[in-house]
Formats: sequence, C-alpha cells, structure tokens
Amino acid sequence: MAKQVTIDTEECIGCQSCVEICPEVFDFNNSEDKAFVTNPDGGDIECAEEAAESCPVECIHIDE
Ligand code: SF4
Repeated sequence: MAKQVTIDTEECIGCQSCVEICPEVFDFNNSEDKAFVTNPDGGDIECAEEAAESCPVECIHIDE
C-alpha cells in the first residue's frame, strides 16, 4: 500500500532531525532552511515514521 509523506513547510523550524534520521526520504533546502520530501511514496517508510515522531513541531504527515 502506497503511503504519502508530506511536510507542512510553514511549520518546519529547520532542525534537520528528519534528514538525519531518514535521508532516503527527506532532504534539506539550505537556502530556505526547510526540509523537503525527496521520496514521498517510496524509500524506507519505517524511518520516515521515526522521523515524523521525532519532529519537534510534528509537521511531518504520513497518509495511508
Ligand atoms: S524534523 Fe520537522 S522541523 Fe525538523 S527539519 Fe524535519 S520537518 Fe523540519
């Protein structure tokens, strides 16, 4: 079942935690100081979930 990973970039505070935990799915835009999703429906979804849990502002969303 494909999942959809999204970031509410308005809320992102640029801590880079998600990129450290799950570089397969998240990358960082240094010029905007925001994370973005590189692999919204693939990659290692378990680490994406871990990253979502670690996000201090809970702005990573995973939809089934
Ligand atoms: S963990 Fe959350 S706040 Fe931190 S960079 Fe990723 S999306 Fe942004």
